[in-house]
Amino acid sequence: MTNGELHTVYIGFGGNIGDVANNIAAARQTLDGLFRVNANVHSSLYLSKPHGKVEQDDFINAVSSFQTSLAPMQLLKEMITIENTLGRTREIHWGPRTIDLDLLLYGEEVIETEALTVPHRHIQDREFVLYPLNEIAPDLVIPERGPLSILLNCCADNGLKRLEEQEAVQA
Ligand code: AMP
Repeated sequence: MTNGELHTVYIGFGGNIGDVANNIAAARQTLDGLFRVNANVHSSLYLSKPHGKVEQDDFINAVSSFQTSLAPMQLLKEMITIENTLGRTREIHWGPRTIDLDLLLYGEEVIETEALTVPHRHIQDREFVLYPLNEIAPDLVIPERGPLSILLNCCADNGLKRLEEQEAVQA
């Protein structure tokens, strides 16, 4: 289970149904409470264009880093509980969703199991992950991918917009 060692993990949040800003705040608050460590860092909220072929509203996204002693699968379980508690619905792959939590990075670990792939499979292709990561951890080096700064150079922003605090409240 846990051996007490703290790991820095990065979690991505996103959604495009309902009060997403509020859902992201609630998910972050739950995780903050769960880890009880005062070293958690939260990015701004970002407005992003949907990927894939499904016609749908723009998304709101954000990332946070947390310090946790939970093992990767325990953490994933907590994340799925948060998604369910916040009423996540997902009928279509890459379709609209209330809230999605992705485990982006777990320390420097590389994990490849049926239930969990870390670093997250699409981390290098997603502007709504790389740009917020750059806000909170510009010196990050992503295992098996390389420095964040280089990945960012290869990733168009696809119209990504950082929301000022006031806009985030209204989003
Ligand atoms: P999705 O709802 O499309 O984001 O997929 C959720 C499922 O993807 C979860 O039930 C996990 O078992 C699996 N999964 C694999 N790798 C990850 C990851 N890095 N973060 C979150 N879910 C993951």
